[in-house]
Amino acid sequence: MKLRKVTAASAAVLALALTATACGSEDKDDSGSGSSGGGDKIKIGIKYDQPGLGLKEPDGSFSGFDVDVATYVAKELGYEANQIEFVETKSADRENALARGDVKFIVATYSINDERKQKVDFAGPYLLAHQDLLVKADSKIAAGEDLNGKNLCSVTGSTSAQNVKDKIAPKANLRQNSGYSECIAALQSGAVDAVTTDDSILAGFAAQDKYKGQFKLVGEKLSNENYGIGVKKGDKATVDKINAALEKMVSDKSWDKAVTENFGPANYKNEPAPKIGVIVK
Ligand code: GLU
Repeated sequence: MKLRKVTAASAAVLALALTATACGSEDKDDSGSGSSGGGDKIKIGIKYDQPGLGLKEPDGSFSGFDVDVATYVAKELGYEANQIEFVETKSADRENALARGDVKFIVATYSINDERKQKVDFAGPYLLAHQDLLVKADSKIAAGEDLNGKNLCSVTGSTSAQNVKDKIAPKANLRQNSGYSECIAALQSGAVDAVTTDDSILAGFAAQDKYKGQFKLVGEKLSNENYGIGVKKGDKATVDKINAALEKMVSDKSWDKAVTENFGPANYKNEPAPKIGVIVK
């Protein structure tokens, strides 16, 4: 009798556990962990405030090179454009968003480096950019070392901010915002003398109608930024699938098309398509 009671109780616990598991896996599919289409959604992390790369338009649509890469890769993974849910992943949030499983992968000007590789895995690279400086059109700042003692803006959790502190201008008065759009506003108002991050990002801002003629890129290649697609640590199957998709995007010329459409208006002279797995140090 006693035994039977225990068994009944166990059965109840088991039933509850099964229900919980069922709910859990449903949530998981919603969050984009499903490996094929069939009505599932996929969540992809992008930037929302970087014109030409990852931008949320006023009408709620998304544009930019990273958005096009993400859309192409998703399609190869079995998801149509209408099955994608883009999620904002700011520079400082990317590793945590992947660890928590908020998104399946991140295409957000996300440079591959050893520190990040401790926490996440990367597919790619799919673009090589370089750290540069954006200044007012009449600025005398002409090199990284000119920034020492000057007011400079970059973004928390970015390689750009880290490089300034470690090498480029340790004596600059560095202000760190959560996104580059805030830095650009600070440059326009005169609150800072320069903004530093990847040339790809800075060119996109400089070409915006509202800033036309106001800023210039200094043209310094202060670093190599190899953009990768971030994936949860250990998810090798997804890395392999994304790498295959990126190879196809280059070979069928969709990569060139995305470059022309997104970087053409900013007159950004990008590097040629990188080889998958080859990091330019
Ligand atoms: N590519 C650099 C990085 O991953 C700077 C751009 C960004 O903050 O996304 O940190």
